Amino acid sequence: MKIFESARLRLTLWYTLVIMVVSITFSLGIYSIQTYELTRFEAIQRERIENRIYDSAPQRARNPLVLDEGLVTEAKQRIIHRLGLINGILMIVATGFGYFLSGKTLRPIERVLKDQENFISDASHELRTPLTAMRTSLEVFLRGKKKTLSSATALIKGSLDEVIRLQSLSDSLLDLSTGSLDRQSFQELELKEVIDSALTSLAPLAKKRRIKIALRGKSVYVRGSHSHLRQLFVILIDNAIKYSPVAKGKVSITLSQKGRSVTVTVKDNGKGIDQDDLPHVFDRFYRADSSRSRGGSGGYGLGLAIAKKIMDDHNGEISVNSLPGKGSTFQVTFRKHQA
Ligand code: ADP
Repeated sequence: MKIFESARLRLTLWYTLVIMVVSITFSLGIYSIQTYELTRFEAIQRERIENRIYDSAPQRARNPLVLDEGLVTEAKQRIIHRLGLINGILMIVATGFGYFLSGKTLRPIERVLKDQENFISDASHELRTPLTAMRTSLEVFLRGKKKTLSSATALIKGSLDEVIRLQSLSDSLLDLSTGSLDRQSFQELELKEVIDSALTSLAPLAKKRRIKIALRGKSVYVRGSHSHLRQLFVILIDNAIKYSPVAKGKVSITLSQKGRSVTVTVKDNGKGIDQDDLPHVFDRFYRADSSRSRGGSGGYGLGLAIAKKIMDDHNGEISVNSLPGKGSTFQVTFRKHQA
């Protein structure tokens, strides 16, 4: 990314500048101390030698001693030379080190930016496809000669379905793009009650697909957001219903508590998930079977990404086990804090 590279160079420049300002300040200090000491040493030595030589000589025969000034100047130049060399080496090392450090500092920011870029491009793609399809069918209808009430009704029905799907897509995008939940607003919740409320809204779908749902386990409590945990169970149970065979599907939900950790499993006997797809199902826009999912019934591959975000916000974990053809088991675990 160009912006990342230029930010890295600028940061390197700043690192080097700071190190060089410190180093040059120190060098100037060292130089002035050294030259002061040198001049003092030269004056003392001169005085001592003069005293020794002229001690016995008569006053008028005394001439001021001429010491080799060149030696002092040369010593000063050698100090300047050495300090210059040290500063030069330091500048090269500081630039290399600064470049390495700025890369390390900026990498997480680059990753977030890249992630966001991908998210926006995936989202735009998902929005564009149904919008283009809808636009085309509306234009074809308007250009057509034979417009009947039934063809207009069919067109409106089709468009309405797309609008409903687009609305759910925009809701999901909003859920994913909002920041973390405020834990201050969390309440003590009875999980069975939260799951029951999710089941109520899914009852029509379960009835339509003739799927049996069983909820087992004792009553367990966790701290959390009621609406978000309800959404989490709607996603998991909705998937379990969606990906199970009509009339033969069985979904069982189990609650349990071990020590301070509360676990809920949602198990189905549906189509299962391929081992290759398993590590990716919590990624945004990931659909294990894209050809089928892009059709009418499937979602946008955002449900499990939202479920994972909700569990992250609750300081919990979500995982999945699955056998293709046998079914899948999703497990969510909450860690209860010490009271
Ligand atoms: P979608 O809206 O497509 O269902 P999700 O994020 O909820 O998106 O799920 C991602 C993918 O994981 C789905 O496309 C599906 O292939 C697979 N998946 C999720 N839950 C199940 C399940 N219970 N059984 C089989 N496959 C599932």
